[in-house]
Amino acid sequence: MESPAKIPPAAAVAGYLDRLGRLIRAREHEAGLNPAQWEALRYIARANRFSRNPTALTAWFGATKGTISQTLIALERKGLVGKERRSGRGRAVSVFLTDGGKAVLARDPLVDIEAAGVALGGDAARLAGLLAALLNEVQEMSGQHSFGNCRTCRFFAQGEGESDSRPHRCLLLKSDFEQEEAARICVKHEPAA
Ligand code: SF4
Repeated sequence: MESPAKIPPAAAVAGYLDRLGRLIRAREHEAGLNPAQWEALRYIARANRFSRNPTALTAWFGATKGTISQTLIALERKGLVGKERRSGRGRAVSVFLTDGGKAVLARDPLVDIEAAGVALGGDAARLAGLLAALLNEVQEMSGQHSFGNCRTCRFFAQGEGESDSRPHRCLLLKSDFEQEEAARICVKHEPAA
């Protein structure tokens, strides 16, 4: 009998990612928000103060301004997201999570995936590294901007902030950062060499 054709490992990875993506999207719909709305909530929760705005969200999603605007309007109507003026930036706005948004995010379907990842033990860190490399590769192929945090950015000056409470400095934005904020997603990130 002829043995079934072996699936090349890279094709298997693509297939598993697709299956996982479908499972996650199904859970997201069950929880009452669409996938774009979930992703916007997650992004706002994780982004730094320079990156919590509609322009940065548009770049993060690789979507059109109109799509992001509709997503934010829907989240605002549900009382999950609020907007405020950015000081010194004219009509530009920042977005933030309301208490309701934080409560919804605490029930994020991705938490179950995270729990499954914990069961992988030490392999979870290796898998995270491999998936990050794969994501970077795909972003480059599709001409998308890389996002990251200060720790992997060429503008990060560790320990060069002017106060103990804000010990790190961004050489691009000329601003000091707390430890916690240096770990947040930044739209201006450029990978260190
Ligand atoms: S160091 Fe890089 S990632 Fe951090 S705030 Fe500056 S540009 Fe953004």
